[in-house]
Amino acid sequence: MSPVSTRPWVPGMCWLYCRRTGVPVVWLGAVSSSGIQAPMYGCEQCVAELDHMVWQYAAALDTQ
Ligand SMILES: [Zn+2]
Repeated sequence: MSPVSTRPWVPGMCWLYCRRTGVPVVWLGAVSSSGIQAPMYGCEQCVAELDHMVWQYAAALDTQ
């Protein structure tokens, strides 16, 4: 999977926290919910929030 920073930004709906539509979003990966897989997209602002959570997770792994 290519890093988020190299993927194209396309106008669409943010699947993350803000749920705005018509904003530039980037594909984050496939998400699985209720047994269904769907492509998840996020805007720049929410991807930054998500990034923060991912780094927290990575930091927690390091301390184990
Ligand atoms: Zn957003």
